[in-house]
Amino acid sequence: MAFGVSIRLPIKHGFVRGRAFGYFPDRGNGSSFLDSYEYSQLLQSCRDIESLKAVHAQVVTAGYQSNMYLAAKLIEIYRDFSGSMEDGRKVFNNTTERDSQLYNVLIRGYTTHGSYMEAIRAYDEMQMQGLKPNHFSFPFVLKACSAMGDLEKGKEIHRDSMMAGMNGHTYVCNGLIAMYARCGDLTNARQVFDEMPERDVISWNSMIAGYCQNDHPKEALELFHGMLLGFREGLDGVTLVAILPSLSQLSALGHGRWAHCYAIKNGFVVDVVLGTALVNMYAKCGRLSVARLVFDRMAQRNVFSWNALIGGYGVYGLASDALGTFSLMLKANISPDAITFVYVLSACAHAGLVDDARQWFRAMRDDHSLEPSGEHYACMVDALGRAGLFDEAMSIINSMPFEPGADVWGSLLGACRIHKDVSLAEIAAERVLMLDPLNAGRYVLVANIYAASGMWDEVARVRTLMKERGVRKPLGSSSIEVRHRVHTFGARDESHPFSNKIYEKLTWLEGELRGMGYEPDVNSVLHDVGEEEKGEMVARHSERLAIAFGLIYASPGSTIRVTKNLRVCVDCHSVTKMISKLVGREIVVRDSNRFHHFKGGACSCGDYW
Ligand code: ZN
Ligand code: ZN
Repeated sequence: MAFGVSIRLPIKHGFVRGRAFGYFPDRGNGSSFLDSYEYSQLLQSCRDIESLKAVHAQVVTAGYQSNMYLAAKLIEIYRDFSGSMEDGRKVFNNTTERDSQLYNVLIRGYTTHGSYMEAIRAYDEMQMQGLKPNHFSFPFVLKACSAMGDLEKGKEIHRDSMMAGMNGHTYVCNGLIAMYARCGDLTNARQVFDEMPERDVISWNSMIAGYCQNDHPKEALELFHGMLLGFREGLDGVTLVAILPSLSQLSALGHGRWAHCYAIKNGFVVDVVLGTALVNMYAKCGRLSVARLVFDRMAQRNVFSWNALIGGYGVYGLASDALGTFSLMLKANISPDAITFVYVLSACAHAGLVDDARQWFRAMRDDHSLEPSGEHYACMVDALGRAGLFDEAMSIINSMPFEPGADVWGSLLGACRIHKDVSLAEIAAERVLMLDPLNAGRYVLVANIYAASGMWDEVARVRTLMKERGVRKPLGSSSIEVRHRVHTFGARDESHPFSNKIYEKLTWLEGELRGMGYEPDVNSVLHDVGEEEKGEMVARHSERLAIAFGLIYASPGSTIRVTKNLRVCVDCHSVTKMISKLVGREIVVRDSNRFHHFKGGACSCGDYW
C-alpha cells in the first residue's frame, strides 16, 4: 500500500498526483493500473464526453466498475456532459454494492435534470433496498414532488424525514416548505416554517413566494414585514423577486418603490430576473413610465422582460405603446413566445384595433411558428366581438382545430353584453356555464346580460343553477395603499377603524352626484331586492370604500390608486368617472381585467371593458 505517499504517474492527460486512502482499493505497487483516487482525479479532468468515455473504459478495465465512489463521479459527470441520465443510470446498474450516498447522486441527477418521476422511483428503490434516506436525499426528492404537484408523496416523505430524525433540519424544512407551498397546502408549509428552530434566507423566501404563488398577497406582505423585523441576516435579491408580485397585486407602489431603493442601496445586482420583476411591479401598479425606465436600464433582457412591458402597456389600454414595444422586441431579435402574442392580441382587443389583431394572429403562425392556443382565440373573439363583428367571431370559433373552451365563449359573452345581443349571448352562456360550471363570475355576467334586458325569469334561472351547483359569488375586495400601509375593503365592509368617516364621505359623494344627475344603475346586482336596496348595495361596493378612504387620507391632489379582485361593475364605473370630475382628482382602478384611468369625468377604457 502506498499509504499517504505522493506518486506521479505518466498518463494520457498529463501527470496526476494521487494518494491511496483506505476508501479507494489500491491495486498495489507495480500494477500498470491507477488506484481509484487517481481515476477520480482523472475523471475530474475530463473536458468532454469523448475523454470521459475513454477514462470510463479504463476504469472498467481496471476492475473498478463496482466502485461506489467512482460510480457516483461518473453519474454526475455524465449528467453534466450528456445532459441526460441515461449513461449515468447504466453506470449505476453496473454497481454491485450501493449505499445511500450513491442513491442520493442518482436522485439529485434525476431532479436537476427534470426527470422527477425517476427521482421519486430511485428514492423508493433506495428504501426497498433497506437504505436510509438522509438530509441529502430529502431536499431533492421533495423538489421532484413539488414539480409534479404530488402532495401525497410529499407528505409521505415528510413522515420519512421525521422518522429519520430530521425535524427542524434547515435544508429539509426548506424543501418541505417549498413542496407544500407548490402543492397549494399553505397550512402545512406555514407549520413547518413556524416550527423551524433556525431559519435561513431560503426559508423566508420560500414561504413568501409560497403565499405569493397561491394568491395570498396580504400574507406575503405580512411575512415580509416579519422578516424585516425579525431576521437579522437580512433579505437578498431573491426575497425581492418573491415579494414584488404580491406588491403589484396589492398595488402597493410605495412598498415596491422601497424594494427598488433597497436593492440599489444595498448594491444588489439588478439582473434580468430582478429587473423583470421590477418592470412587472411598476407596470402592474400602472406606472408605465417608471417601468420603461427600469427596462431601458437593464443590461440584459429576456422574453419575460419584454412580455412584462408589453403586457403592462396592454392592460393600461396603451395599445400603440404595446405594439411599438413589440416591434422593438422583434428588431432586437428576441423571439416572441405564446404569452407575447396573448399580450399583443389582448392589447389590440382592448383598444379596438381589429386590423392589427387580425395581422398578428396570422403572423403568429406564419412567421413565428406558434400554434394559437385557446387564449389566443379568446383574444381574437374578444377583438372581433367588441367591434360588433359577430359573424367573423363565429367563423373564427368554427375554424378552431380543437373544441373552444370557456375562455373563448366567455369572450363572446362579454361582447354580447356590450352590444346587448341576447340571442347570441344565450348560445355562448349555455356553453360557458357547461364548460366552467364553478366560476361564479360567468354566472354573474350571464345574469347581468339578462337583467339588462329585463329578463328576470332568466336571471332567476341562472341564480337557481348557481345554487344547485353550489357556486358562491366570490367576495369583492379592493386595496389601496396610503402612506406605506395597504388597506383592504370588502363590499359593505364596516371593519375599518375609520369606517364612520368613509361612510360619511360616501353619503356626501352620493348627494353631490345625484345633484349632477346621477341615477344608480342597479343591473349589476344579482339579487331579488327592491330598487332602493339594490342602489344601496352597489353604492357600498368595495372599490367605492377604497376610493372614499383615499379621498380622505391620501396626500392632497395625489392620484388615487385602487386594485380590485373582480371586474368593476357598470354603476361603480360611472360613479368613479363622475367623482374624478367632481373632486378634480385622477383615480386609477385596476380590476381583474384591465386598468381604468379616470380623469375629468372620463375613463381611459372608453367605457369598453
Ligand atoms: Zn360596483
Ligand atoms: Zn374604464
